[in-house]
Amino acid sequence: MTVVERVDTLIVGSGHGGAQAAICLRQNGFAGSILILTRDRHLPYERPPLSKEYLRGDKPFERILLRPPAFWSERGIAFRLSANVTDVLPDEHVAVLSDGTRIAYGDLVWAAGGEPRMLACPGAELNGIHAVRARDDLDQLRDELAVGPRRICVVGGGYIGLEAAAVLRKLGHTVTLVEAEPRLLSRVAGEELSEFFLTEHRAQGVTVLLSSKVEALRGENGRVAAVCLTGGEEIPCDLVVVGIGIVPSVGPLMAAGAAGADGVDVDEFCRTNLDHVFAIGDCAAHANPFADGKVIRLESVQNANDMASVAAKAICGDPQPYRAVPWFWSNQYDLKLQTVGLSSGYDTTVLRGDPVARSFCVIYLKEGRVIALDCVNATRDYAQGRRLVEARAQIDPARLVDTSIPLKELL
Ligand code: ADP
Repeated sequence: MTVVERVDTLIVGSGHGGAQAAICLRQNGFAGSILILTRDRHLPYERPPLSKEYLRGDKPFERILLRPPAFWSERGIAFRLSANVTDVLPDEHVAVLSDGTRIAYGDLVWAAGGEPRMLACPGAELNGIHAVRARDDLDQLRDELAVGPRRICVVGGGYIGLEAAAVLRKLGHTVTLVEAEPRLLSRVAGEELSEFFLTEHRAQGVTVLLSSKVEALRGENGRVAAVCLTGGEEIPCDLVVVGIGIVPSVGPLMAAGAAGADGVDVDEFCRTNLDHVFAIGDCAAHANPFADGKVIRLESVQNANDMASVAAKAICGDPQPYRAVPWFWSNQYDLKLQTVGLSSGYDTTVLRGDPVARSFCVIYLKEGRVIALDCVNATRDYAQGRRLVEARAQIDPARLVDTSIPLKELL
C-alpha cells in the first residue's frame, strides 16, 4: 500500500504532552519534520483552566491557547486536527488514520491522553450529561448554563468534580455532588484534606453525598431529569457533570503489541516496547521513583511536560531518565491547593498550620520520611517542602508541625 506521507517525528495528541514534545524537540535542536496529529479541532490549549476560569467565563479561549498560532508555523511544527489514528504498524513504522491515510514515522510519540470515563448505567445515553475534559465539553456545558440557574448533579469527588462544583456554585447553580467512596479525594489525598474540602464545599452550599453510588439516570423526553442512587434516593436535576477519571487512549498501541495493563508501559526514557515508539503523559505507565518505583500513571501537567522533555531528548540522542518530582495544583473557591510528591503509601500524616484559618499543609510520611505535601493557601511551605520530598527527609514530626520553623530550616 502507498505511504501517503513521511514525517521524522509523528506526535499523536495535542494536549500538554504532545505540544510540549514538539517544543522540546525544537529546543533540543531537532531539525527534522514534526507533525502533531490530534482528534481535537483546536490548536493546543491549557487544560487546567477548563474546569476553572474557562468554565467560569473569566478567560476567553484565545487566552488559554498554549502558544499563539504563529508559534507553531514559525517552528515548522505541522498539525493535522480532527484526525484519528486507528492502527499502528510497528514493523513498518506506519500510523494509519481513519480516512485510510498512512503516515510513516521515524519516531512516534504517543501523547493521546485519555477519554473521560462516563457512567455506564441505564440512562447514560440521555442528553444533558457532560464531561469536563476538552474545550468542546466545556462549551456544551456553558451553553446549557446560559439559560439560567440549573440544578446540577456532579458525579465524582476527585479534583475535576470538586473544581467544577466550586465554579458552578459560584455561578449560582444548585449543586449536588455524588461520590462513591466514603470520602472525597480518596484516590489522591489523605483524610485531613478530604475532610477540609468536604467542610468547605458544604459551607459554600454544595450538597455532598458520600458513599453514594449512581445506579441509573432517569430521563424525560430524552433528557436527564434525575440521578438515581442505589438505595433508592433520587436527585432531581437539569444536567449532570461527570468527573470520574479517564480511560487511557492506547487502543492502537495495544493492538500493535505494546505492553501495559493500565495505559501503555514505558521505561525511564518513555520508550514503549515498540520500536521507535514513545509514550508520554496521562496514558504512560511508568515506574515512578517518588512512588518507590511502583508502576503508575500520573494525570498532571507536570508529568506531561516533563515526560515530553524526556522523550524529546531521547529522540535527539541525549537520553536522560525521567526523575521529575511530581507536583500538582487545584483551585477551588479562594483556596489554592498545591501538592508536591506522591502521598500514596503514606503511614503517617502531620498537620502543619490551621485548617480553620484556611492555611495549612498536610505532610505525608512513610517510614519516618517525608514523601509528599498537600498545601492549602500555604505557598511558602509548598516551595520549601519540595526539597524535603526530593531528599525524602527524615524529620521529627514535632518539628514539622511547628509553623515557627520554616521548612527549609529542617533539612
Ligand atoms: P478526576 O481526575 O476525574 O477527578 P479521580 O479518579 O481523581 O478523577 O476522581 C474520580 C472520583 O470519582 C473518585 O473519587 C471516585 O471514587 C469517584 N467515582 C468513580 N466512579 C464513580 C461513580 N460511578 N459514582 C460516583 N463517584 C464515582
